Amino acid sequence: MDRLKKRILVIDSPAFINLKIPLQPLENTVYVTTPRVLNELKDRMSELHASVALMQRVIKVENPSESSLKEIKKVLRILGEDISRTDISVVALALDYKKKGENVTILTDDYSLANVANYMDLKVKLLTKKEFKSVIKWRYQCPSCKRYFKEKKRCPFCDVELIRRGRRIRSVDP
Ligand SMILES: [Zn+2]
Repeated sequence: MDRLKKRILVIDSPAFINLKIPLQPLENTVYVTTPRVLNELKDRMSELHASVALMQRVIKVENPSESSLKEIKKVLRILGEDISRTDISVVALALDYKKKGENVTILTDDYSLANVANYMDLKVKLLTKKEFKSVIKWRYQCPSCKRYFKEKKRCPFCDVELIRRGRRIRSVDP
């Protein structure tokens, strides 16, 4: 019986750029990512690193479930966050693992992605040094009449562009 529970690390594209992935498989850590992340790698160093990691079976590539994708999209609307389809796939894949009761962490340097993940109570490790202390809900405010709106559009009363304003809705457990 395997007593040590494996740690699942879901990786976003910056993890390839910053070479945060080992080149040999680790005993107690599984690296996973989505096809979208791999397709998004732009520089040669990241691509090279990804191909070595794939060849050595350090990373597994999986698509997230449709139900988790839907859940994340719902959260985006709640928070007023706007993240790419690639970022959505990363959070959704992590959510799939969490639902299976796995010890899962997302490795990223994207604050919006981290914000969504934190809201879903998913563990996030930021590749940058800055700590992430709260979940932010975004709203849009008219600079002229000060009214708040949920979506980014022009103010229907003043016809000026709205400004994005963040509000802390809760803190994140360390
Ligand atoms: Zn206005």
